[in-house]
Amino acid sequence: MPKNPFACSECHLILPDDLDQCNRHPSAPVSSDWNGYVIVMDPTRSEIAERLEIDIPGNYALKVNIR
Ligand SMILES: [Zn+2]
Repeated sequence: MPKNPFACSECHLILPDDLDQCNRHPSAPVSSDWNGYVIVMDPTRSEIAERLEIDIPGNYALKVNIR
């Protein structure tokens, strides 16, 4: 089974394979233990984006579990 990519615990952004730290939150912990995959195209028109306080388009995890 392929390994889950990391997600930022701060903005929930799912990081590309070559990144292990969020560009916008370099001090926030990342985790490969997350649930729910959301693609946000237009944050200004997405209820989920508003709830997660997402302001840039991208792929996000609904829930990020930090040990
Ligand atoms: Zn982040």
